[in-house]
Amino acid sequence: MEKKETRALIENVMEQLAEKTDFLGIEDKEKRRRVCLSAKEILKTTDKIIKSYIRVSTEKNGIARIPAYRVQHNNISGFYKGGIRFSEFVSEEEVENLAILMTLKNALHRLPFGGAKGGVHVDPRKFSDRELNLISKKYVQRFARDIGPNHDIPAPDLGTNEKVIDWMVGEYKTIHPGEAYLDSFTGKSVENGGARGRREATGKGTFLSYSWLLNEWLNQQTGEKKISRKKQWETLNTFKKRIKQGKDISVAVQGFGNVGAIAALEANRYKNIKHKVVAVSDRFTTLYNEKGLDVEKLVKYTANGRDLPANHDELEAAGVQAEVMPATDVLTVKTDVLILAAIEDVIHRDNMKEIQARILVEGANAPISQEADTYFEEQGAIVIPDILANAGGVIVSYLEWKQSRVTELYSEDDIFADMSAQMIETLKHVYDVYFSSVEKTMRFTCFTLSLERLTSLLYRHGKL
Ligand code: GLU
Repeated sequence: MEKKETRALIENVMEQLAEKTDFLGIEDKEKRRRVCLSAKEILKTTDKIIKSYIRVSTEKNGIARIPAYRVQHNNISGFYKGGIRFSEFVSEEEVENLAILMTLKNALHRLPFGGAKGGVHVDPRKFSDRELNLISKKYVQRFARDIGPNHDIPAPDLGTNEKVIDWMVGEYKTIHPGEAYLDSFTGKSVENGGARGRREATGKGTFLSYSWLLNEWLNQQTGEKKISRKKQWETLNTFKKRIKQGKDISVAVQGFGNVGAIAALEANRYKNIKHKVVAVSDRFTTLYNEKGLDVEKLVKYTANGRDLPANHDELEAAGVQAEVMPATDVLTVKTDVLILAAIEDVIHRDNMKEIQARILVEGANAPISQEADTYFEEQGAIVIPDILANAGGVIVSYLEWKQSRVTELYSEDDIFADMSAQMIETLKHVYDVYFSSVEKTMRFTCFTLSLERLTSLLYRHGKL
């Protein structure tokens, strides 16, 4: 979803909240409208956009002048929080959209954080480690006064990882000598005070978002429950029947990085429902096997940043049997579940009708356009939106931030237990509301719950 679509959806939801008679306990219709209108203006606008240029001398291209951003959307529910991405697609518009989504994500999951995002316009694969180290340090130098543990706490995102964050923490520490620094970033390596399991958290949470729906939530629905979402309900029950008969649920995963590879592994290892990962992809290739791919071997093969095997010899070296297809074919293969864990804007008007999956999960941020989302809704497919599905990362970031403030190290079991419990609470709430209402998409439900929370906070703070 692009920025203009995100903004339009916020407007739409706020209009609806203004009509809701019990909202904020304001009985007077005119007053409620006024309050919602003010909230809408605050939520639609971004607090601060900071743009800078990073100059580094590169081995291949001389001095590179690289645009870099930090966007702080708002801090109504706590300190600004969100990742920093390194990607050749970074633009101010994109980073701002992602910052708005962070605000909504954090509010949806009741984390005590607002929303922010950072971005550096580089393809990290084209830079050496030495150059990436310089870029990371310069990023912190440029934004040192705008970030900090009690103001804005960055984390990794697309194209960045714990190594980049460790470099950034090191630089932050140099710039602010003698100050506490461990809680200034999350997504650090465990050796550097990071949370155990942070790297796997987003992928695990993404998998949880639909497996919990199919397994736990669906089984809990008994008796006279009011289900208004008839087509989606039918879709779920078709799955239920097949699962009961011991049949596989097939899964295709776009993106084989931190999110996609972990989600694929989780699916492969899940005991409650039999899964078959039929397709995975990266930037260059889709691997397909109707009978199921050996995900464990693919994860081993791609460790150390290698691309997926893309020809006969490489498949042989990986010990994997698969058909090699173009990268975008992963979207249109025959599958029950499609996990989108690569980049934004991959499903839109031009390809939405070719999608065969009945459950689509947004592991990445903003991969499905608003038009496609509405289309899937009408077709009875289930779209689990980014701010719901991929929050595992920021939830564990919150645990890491807490652990860094008290200088402790939580166990991996504790981290995943806390993350799952917190996610399940939100999943249950969203699925309950979504299936018993008739309005629009699940994204609309999520936006409504987030914006209700943010508006009521603004109201309590006396800002409206
Ligand atoms: N980049 C992740 C996201 O989009 C994590 C952000 C964080 O941990 O602050 O949710």
